[in-house]
Amino acid sequence: MDFVARRARLASRFPDLGVEAFLVTRLPNVRFLTGFTGSNGQLLLAADGGVFLTDGRYGEQSRHEVPDLRRSLYSGDFGPAFGRARADLGVSRVAFESAGLTYRTYTTLAGDGIELVPTIDEVERLRWIKSPQEIRSLEAAQAIADDAFDLIIGKLAEGMAEREVAFELDTQMRRAGAEAMAFETIVGFGENAAEPHHGPGDRTLSRGDVVKVDFGAVVDGYHSDMTRTVAFGEPDPRLREIYEVVRLAQQAGVDAVRAGEVGGDVDRVVRDAIGQAGYGEHYPHSLGHGVGLEVHEGPTLRVGSTDVLPESTVVTVEPGVYVGGLGGVRIEDMVVVTVEGCRVIPRTTKELLVL
Ligand code: ZN
Ligand code: ZN
Repeated sequence: MDFVARRARLASRFPDLGVEAFLVTRLPNVRFLTGFTGSNGQLLLAADGGVFLTDGRYGEQSRHEVPDLRRSLYSGDFGPAFGRARADLGVSRVAFESAGLTYRTYTTLAGDGIELVPTIDEVERLRWIKSPQEIRSLEAAQAIADDAFDLIIGKLAEGMAEREVAFELDTQMRRAGAEAMAFETIVGFGENAAEPHHGPGDRTLSRGDVVKVDFGAVVDGYHSDMTRTVAFGEPDPRLREIYEVVRLAQQAGVDAVRAGEVGGDVDRVVRDAIGQAGYGEHYPHSLGHGVGLEVHEGPTLRVGSTDVLPESTVVTVEPGVYVGGLGGVRIEDMVVVTVEGCRVIPRTTKELLVL
């Protein structure tokens, strides 16, 4: 990863922001700019250098992961360490991430002779466009999830609980090399599939249930995110109809994604398709989101989003229809945005599987 080039791109924003330095505290952003993977680290970036700050637990790790920056190890509060780094760099007007500091920490940074300038999504926006290496990591994470899905559909059996299915998926992904789960695996059987984010519980599988799973793996820090809905035995005819509505709407969404498109416009294509089929009230969430070092990042595909999709960003397309008491269907793919359209990453089928 070219951390130097990434930091140079952030530093090129300093004149517009009217600052001499940038304090990066959100961990995915720290990782993006330095390579540091630990749980406590900050970057104070100046135009001609920077200081990486962490605590004693990460002295050795940061020596390997962040060899190209001056490092400062501190104990206790971050405030005094920040003060020393700031004095060393000789900067007084410092940008910070408004989503990355608690008010309590903020008050320990503020002081005489320092001006803290709030910013929104500066590093996040740099992360929208993925390098070929980042895309390979996302593909590797998704390949692990595809394999785990293949395995789980072969194991589904009457009487199995939602949490057993989640455990099997998680175990399989770990075994195949996932560093972690991308998020808490979602498994919903039957009427529980009507909850978009059902936490897997004791509900056991019966003939005629739909099975909705939303899950992902992490590879090199990059998250995969896929949802599939299958039927365990012949489902209610209304669920077959809903499946077809969601499948066609999801495909319309995939077809609408292209570099230069606006997130809100892509969302509208899919929302209109579901509305015309008569299920508009049963689609209560946005169409999709960027994925990368965080499972939910920009750009966003939702009502009113003005985010313009750049080439080589990776977003999800994930409409769903949910009917209380009956069940629900969601189909979600990650796609790589291209000039001509997009490339779907998962290889798992979107045809209705009736097991
Ligand atoms: Zn998902
Ligand atoms: Zn998602």
